[in-house]
Amino acid sequence: MKLSKSKVNQALDMLAKEATVLVPMIVDGVSKFAPWGTEGKLALDIVNTLLPPKDALFPQTEKMYKYKVSAETAEVKEITDSDKQVVFGLRSCDMHSIDCMDAVFLTKGYVDNFYSRKRENLTTIAINCTKSNPTCFCDSMGVDPNNAASADMQLIDIGDAYVVEARTEKGKAVEALWQPLLEAGEGTATPISCELKLDMAGLPAKLRGMFESDIWDDGYQACIGCGTCTYICPTCYCFDINAENHGQEGVQFRCWDSCMFSEYTRMAGGHNPRPSKKERLRNRFMHKLAYFDERYNKNLCAGCGRCVVNCPVNIDITRFIEKVKEVPVNG
Ligand code: SF4
Ligand code: SF4
Repeated sequence: MKLSKSKVNQALDMLAKEATVLVPMIVDGVSKFAPWGTEGKLALDIVNTLLPPKDALFPQTEKMYKYKVSAETAEVKEITDSDKQVVFGLRSCDMHSIDCMDAVFLTKGYVDNFYSRKRENLTTIAINCTKSNPTCFCDSMGVDPNNAASADMQLIDIGDAYVVEARTEKGKAVEALWQPLLEAGEGTATPISCELKLDMAGLPAKLRGMFESDIWDDGYQACIGCGTCTYICPTCYCFDINAENHGQEGVQFRCWDSCMFSEYTRMAGGHNPRPSKKERLRNRFMHKLAYFDERYNKNLCAGCGRCVVNCPVNIDITRFIEKVKEVPVNG
């Protein structure tokens, strides 16, 4: 079945009656996933948005518990609100990022309730890439820009229409909803690949032996510790927990944190095991390219290129990977 591009707005209207539908849009000059209906321009042809759809599952600020205390009692209530959401038009790199978050928040014997509720209520509709940016390198990271295998539905861009492939029950429910708009038809897209190629063979294992390497002595100096690279990264998931107290009651919430901030590892007594930008940048690259692979068997980098484009001082994970490859094995 296929969905004509001229009917996409109707398809989104239908979905929006049942859920909050996040679509790639340009809003006030910023490309991001915004709820369908927001004033802005639908941007389905953009390769990837400046801001990924990470907030759908991991909001920048999220209320967790309400509490109320008195001289005799303490009441704590978990906040369980979770609306139905659809992310429409996400690319394979952003789907890989959701796979990474699933691994963190739902596996290894620990389930994060706040994430899990949102994940259950989320439907993902991916669109294949028909072009790549010069900074895209997803296929070097094991991501296929032509197919987001774990999405609930894959739309395949065939020019004037999308071929609809529903892959899960959630995907089939969307296909059923769209039935009045769909036409019979098939088609394939010309597969693309990224121009920027990185050789990742053996890199995670090599990096694990490079904690004390001289490679970390160069390049960190320019970092201004702004945290942009982590905030715009679709796979970064670190958070801090804090409380907003009003007299005898309040709310506990979590909000994004960044390993690029000096406070991130500073302990109550003042000691900081990552005292300078060198250790912080080392941690970021090691986490993306070695530690996560060791624990979850995948790269915590989707190759979206967002940090490469947006770091104000041009610290570039792709140049770093190339540099690691050049270091002799015991370097
Ligand atoms: S975006 Fe660049 S300057 Fe800012 S914290 Fe990240 S590496 Fe440092
Ligand atoms: S580390 Fe950079 S290139 Fe990799 S997923 Fe994060 S923002 Fe994208």
